Amino acid sequence: MSEEILMNVSPMESRVSVVENGVLQEVYIERSRSRGIVGNVYKGKVVRVLPGMQAAFVDIGLERAAFIHVSEIQAKADAPRQGESGEPNILGLVHEGQSLVVQVTKDPIGSKGARLTTHLSIPARYLVFMPHNNHVGISLRIDDSQERDRLKELVEKCIEEEQLSERGGFILRTAAEGVGESEIRADILFLHRLWGTIEEAIKESKAPACVYEDLPLHLRTMRDLVNPNIERIRIDSRETFEKVSKFVKKLVPQVDGRVEYYSGERPIFDLFGVEDEITRALGRKVQLKSGGYLIIDQTEAMTTIDVNTGGFVGHRNLEETIFKTNLEASTTIARQLRLRNLGGIIIIDFIDMEDAEHQRQVLRTLEKSLENDHAKTGITGVTELGLVQMTRKRTRESLENTLCEACPTCNGRGMLKTAETICYEIFREILRNARAYENDAYLVLAAQSVVDRLLDEESDNVANVEAFIDKTIRFQVEPMYTQEQFDVVLV
Ligand SMILES: [Zn+2]
Repeated sequence: MSEEILMNVSPMESRVSVVENGVLQEVYIERSRSRGIVGNVYKGKVVRVLPGMQAAFVDIGLERAAFIHVSEIQAKADAPRQGESGEPNILGLVHEGQSLVVQVTKDPIGSKGARLTTHLSIPARYLVFMPHNNHVGISLRIDDSQERDRLKELVEKCIEEEQLSERGGFILRTAAEGVGESEIRADILFLHRLWGTIEEAIKESKAPACVYEDLPLHLRTMRDLVNPNIERIRIDSRETFEKVSKFVKKLVPQVDGRVEYYSGERPIFDLFGVEDEITRALGRKVQLKSGGYLIIDQTEAMTTIDVNTGGFVGHRNLEETIFKTNLEASTTIARQLRLRNLGGIIIIDFIDMEDAEHQRQVLRTLEKSLENDHAKTGITGVTELGLVQMTRKRTRESLENTLCEACPTCNGRGMLKTAETICYEIFREILRNARAYENDAYLVLAAQSVVDRLLDEESDNVANVEAFIDKTIRFQVEPMYTQEQFDVVLV
């Protein structure tokens, strides 16, 4: 399989697309505005120690000094302790003017400074590295005890074989479940190289200084997505290309030489029709080559996917047509789940099939297509009604949640009351008030479509209402009103 990564970089956002055999499979988007500083490591300077609060303020180069509590400061075992909690006294740990290597755990908000810890942790794809201890831990969400043992042994084995100068501690992330030795080893080596560069920066920089930033999307891509199948990585920004090249040489040497600067005239996301595919991935309907189509609905609780045959299907080969449509749907669904990054519970309603062998083949095709997914997936069962239930691990926000918000016109319902329904609501409102006031006329403010209808299809009803209440009704188009909005005013 040939795999390629395209990166589109502009000052306000970075977008990464993964293309396999010429077909877009995954999209990642990061907007500069929404990046915080959580995870960043600084060489800070202690500016004030507050013994009463058992805390200190640390200058990390931001507008406001950041805050650290004694419980977040790594203490030597022989540090003097106090009180019931046995916490060491802050006065014995830090003093004003000293430099302190810290990591941000909470972004500064309003007048509050950032929160810090000295318990550093540097994440990679499957592992988190903790330079200050020697423990190998594992995410509780990996609950199979055999798998937990396998992973722990794997980490210990790799650490030993690589003869790392300082071993440090590791935590196996949930994403490590089912992952093989080569990936775990690559992560360990990556983290050690990365920690080496951070240590160097700590030594060479003068406080306050940032010595490690959680990787921006273009570098995270190199860390997380790059695998031996990747043939090339094309980037449309010279500056980012240079940064990525440097990063790759130092930390991901296995893809050195495959990073290219894209200087083409066509926008990079026009290659392989990526831009169009992204737009289509926001729609509910996905057309299948066989003539059928999928309807994908994302709700808060789950995603439902409905498989349909297209239009008229002859009687003779009905079962065969349905089978083919379901097969195509299986591969398309696997791709759409990745592309849209849909996570959680997914319910698929395939078209009913009589033949049990056909049913098995459709499920097998789905399973096989899901194997290419970076996120963990699993088919959990087929219900009595023939619905296929599956799960996909939630990672980032879905594409839709990244790029869209609920429609303000329908509040996300996807449906609007018809102009006819609104006309009748207007009539009811007028009739309800008719006896209460001594006015001569009503003025109705409504959307164009509603006023058009009142003047045309509903004109008889308007005349009837006017006769009944013995008052006149006038209309005025309000261009800013949505179809559901209207006001009835006494005049
Ligand atoms: Zn809407």
